[in-house]
Amino acid sequence: MVLTFLGTAASEGFPDAFCRCDNCERARRGGGRNLRLRSAALVNDDLLIDFGPDILAASALYGVPLTNVAYCIQTHDHEDHLTPHNFFARSPMCKVEGAPRMRYFAHRKAITRAMPALGNEFALIDGMPSAELCDRLNIDVAPIELFQQFMAGPYTITTVRAQHAPETVALLFVIERDGRTLFYATDTGDFPEETWAALRGFRFDVVALDHTFGDWERSSNAHLTGHQFRAHLKRLREEGMLAEGARVYAHHFVHHSNPPHEELVALGARHGYEIAYDGLRVWI
Ligand SMILES: [Zn+2]
Ligand SMILES: [Zn+2]
Ligand SMILES: [Zn+2]
Repeated sequence: MVLTFLGTAASEGFPDAFCRCDNCERARRGGGRNLRLRSAALVNDDLLIDFGPDILAASALYGVPLTNVAYCIQTHDHEDHLTPHNFFARSPMCKVEGAPRMRYFAHRKAITRAMPALGNEFALIDGMPSAELCDRLNIDVAPIELFQQFMAGPYTITTVRAQHAPETVALLFVIERDGRTLFYATDTGDFPEETWAALRGFRFDVVALDHTFGDWERSSNAHLTGHQFRAHLKRLREEGMLAEGARVYAHHFVHHSNPPHEELVALGARHGYEIAYDGLRVWI
């Protein structure tokens, strides 16, 4: 598999366009890898992780067409990960011809949020879009649950519970193909014990893990701080969940708590992890 990071920032983007903090000003001056769009990722050219607000910009900026996306898996329904208008952008309603029919896998909470946001005629029936609506959008919709395993074409995907926010149900994804395994884990605070239990037996080749509140001293229960990130890295290692040569990437950075890219790289290097940036491709 090839993982492409389409965005690596938390909900405000990095820099936050409205912010004059030192991290934002230095990111503006530095440009390049310091500039982060809101989080999403692509596996190969056909599996999209999150239907976020910046995927169209990322596609253009990093030369990553989304024309072959046939599966989209949704972590949760927060706005920095889910922009319903994207459904139009890839549909025949916007004169997009020949796109694959996209299977959209999401928890019912996200489905309930996304479809009605498209307009009154997109009201759901028993929580699901009608067949006619799916045809108009060139999609199929598949509700998924916590701790479920399902197939998305050639990918075997397992969901586990994130600890995130009470108003949503947030999923972390284990994605397997051809004997290789990716663990995509944002947005989350400390993993619940039931999540650790469900992860037992997996050996990850690549992990993309939440590093939102990098330099906070106090812990968060919605995201990971750098300190919590490193504790998770240690436990992943101790539990034997990292394959030989596994690479662990920090991801989903907020501007007020993380320095510009090169300083993050130096920090990660001291602790045995790498720093994702927008447009980064990782061969798994
Ligand atoms: Zn987020
Ligand atoms: Zn800032
Ligand atoms: Zn979130």
